Amino acid sequence: MTKETPYLIEQNPIKKYNPNYGDDRICNCDHPYYRHFDSYDNNYPCGCKYCGCCEFIEKGDKVEEKRDRAIYTITTISLNLQNTRCVGYCFKNHEAIEIVLQNCGDIYEAGYYPYCVIEEVKAGIYVFPRKEMWFEWNVLLKGYGEIPKKPKKFNNTCCFGIG
Ligand SMILES: [Zn+2]
Ligand SMILES: [Zn+2]
Repeated sequence: MTKETPYLIEQNPIKKYNPNYGDDRICNCDHPYYRHFDSYDNNYPCGCKYCGCCEFIEKGDKVEEKRDRAIYTITTISLNLQNTRCVGYCFKNHEAIEIVLQNCGDIYEAGYYPYCVIEEVKAGIYVFPRKEMWFEWNVLLKGYGEIPKKPKKFNNTCCFGIG
């Protein structure tokens, strides 16, 4: 008897629109609360319509936690490791994962970048260690699939996205 299940389910907390919060409350970005959601898409927390501010923090609220904030860089890597391309970053890990799994914008570049890594990078220079999530193109799935760890051939390399 084992209590193990065949799949581990990952649950990412999702921030949702709160209708009771107050649509007109003002964010540090100087725009109202409700503009930080997409009313055409189930109030998806898409970020501020006017300026792209991705997190509503009421004006005047302390932003101390921001100092510890990380970005999640998305870097694609060619087969021979000669070429890496940091295609962008997100403030939320799950957003970065979504981009990779959906191959948004064809970051795979039609086969040129069979590997992809998401790195959690905090503020500073030469920041290390950092959390990494690795992906390899899966021909059957026609998409990137997560792999449990960094491929051996990359063992002598680190800090792919930035720094
Ligand atoms: Zn804002
Ligand atoms: Zn704004």
